[in-house]
Amino acid sequence: MNNKTPTPEELQKDLQEFVNQKYGGTVQLGNVAAGAQAPAPDATEDVPSPKKTFDLKFDLKPKEVKQYLDRYVIRQDDAKKALAIAVCDHYNHVRECHENPDAAEADYSKQNIVMLGPTGVGKTYLIRHIAKLIGVPFVKADATRFSETGYVGANVDDLIRELVTQADDNLELAQYGIVYLDEADKIATPPNIIGRDVSGRGVQIGLLKLMEETEVDLRSGHDVASQMRAAMEFQRRGKVEKEVINTRHILFIISGAFTGLEKSIKKRMHQSRIGFNANVVSQTEDAGHYFQHVTPKDFIDYGFEPEFIGRLPVHVVCSELEVEDLFHILKHSEGSIIRQYENAFQAYGITVLFADSGLHRIAEKAIEQKTGARALMTVCEKALRDYKFELPSTGVQEFVVTASVIDEPQMELQRIIGDTGYNRHLVMQEQLRRYEARFHAEHQLQIRFDDDATALLCERAIANEHTVSQVCDALLESYQHGLNLIKQNTGQSTFTFPKAVVENPDIVLEEWIRESYTKKR
Ligand code: ADP
Repeated sequence: MNNKTPTPEELQKDLQEFVNQKYGGTVQLGNVAAGAQAPAPDATEDVPSPKKTFDLKFDLKPKEVKQYLDRYVIRQDDAKKALAIAVCDHYNHVRECHENPDAAEADYSKQNIVMLGPTGVGKTYLIRHIAKLIGVPFVKADATRFSETGYVGANVDDLIRELVTQADDNLELAQYGIVYLDEADKIATPPNIIGRDVSGRGVQIGLLKLMEETEVDLRSGHDVASQMRAAMEFQRRGKVEKEVINTRHILFIISGAFTGLEKSIKKRMHQSRIGFNANVVSQTEDAGHYFQHVTPKDFIDYGFEPEFIGRLPVHVVCSELEVEDLFHILKHSEGSIIRQYENAFQAYGITVLFADSGLHRIAEKAIEQKTGARALMTVCEKALRDYKFELPSTGVQEFVVTASVIDEPQMELQRIIGDTGYNRHLVMQEQLRRYEARFHAEHQLQIRFDDDATALLCERAIANEHTVSQVCDALLESYQHGLNLIKQNTGQSTFTFPKAVVENPDIVLEEWIRESYTKKR
């Protein structure tokens, strides 16, 4: 068998022969009469294929980039800052080159990035959002894909071709794209481990070529579809223009957990302190702490080629997320998966309210899986799957995701479906919690109805067929002013409302105000 990949000319000829054999001379390939020679390149009327252009208007400042990332990514402040700076430097430089192609770029060293941190803490998420903000294509791949096949060059080049696809075939835009390679620690080949997968080194060299600057042929010899298109173009125009993409301005980011790298950093740091205080760094500090001090030499000892790591001057560390961070991701990130669930239920006319207690329980369960924020989806899916299946076929129009829903999904689902009063009470309780949160946001006064007050207030709302907000607005008409007066007198800004506030709001408030004058500072 001939393993050679055909040129467009050869492919076009073979295809025409195949068509002739199968259908005789009646069927033609393309618009050239069967048997006729393809037109000579010079004789063809040159109809240039429409070239998409792109005008890079980058005018963001690092702070603006960080502020944008803050909307989506919780924590990782140092990482956001470092990335914002690196990305602005890179695209400012690209813009200069774009505006003035003659300007010398000799001394510029590209701001390619290494990201270190455990799985599921926002590394990819950060970069994806940066690409979206700037409006450039983004391609992500796992480095293991390349070392596993052992076949290096072509696959690494595929990343660049994929950028073109992501850029909707806009070649120019693709040349400003971002390539993100995850699990990059797996292509490290420590020199002292004999017999370790040597293809990692090959992948590093393939990537190095791309990072330095090279031209990648847009047509992969192994991609039959693109070869066919080229053959057709040859048929039509008598020549095929070689299309290449230059990697000079493509931003490369490699990332990974780099397990074990912290040990060599720690060792180095301790050695440099010998005779001084070798135990300064505590044993309990996590890998993230040491990653902050990583040097190119540490990466080389870990198994990276010096030239390869030399092309990745920006080091960005993302830290482990804690329960409270996962809670914040659910509650405050604009990309929170909660929105997805709200929309999914809303499609059946069902309003789902996630109570803080429910969000906390999701976060607590997720942290046990040790896959960062990734586990949030798994926990939610597991708990809410039956709700998605059952509730659309019931009369339930609203429900609350409480801690019980996460702990005992089945039991709680039956109760929500079977006991209308119970469900209504839970919904109102949650609406009251949201009213309290709004009151805090609007007036900087933290109010909280205690359990008895909450129960009474909900009862009243049900009896009068009012919403919780309507009942609260009526009850607390004078409270904003009154509580502010108390705040002025005593500095108190947190108030717990007992049942009496629901029964006799004005009397209680007057009493509180009177007392506040006696405690006046
Ligand atoms: P990795 O660090 O392994 O690249 P990802 O960035 O892919 O992890 O995170 C997986 C998902 O978890 C993201 O798509 C996002 O929804 C969520 N996520 C992870 N970290 C954060 C974070 N710090 N803030 C907000 N969401 C996050």
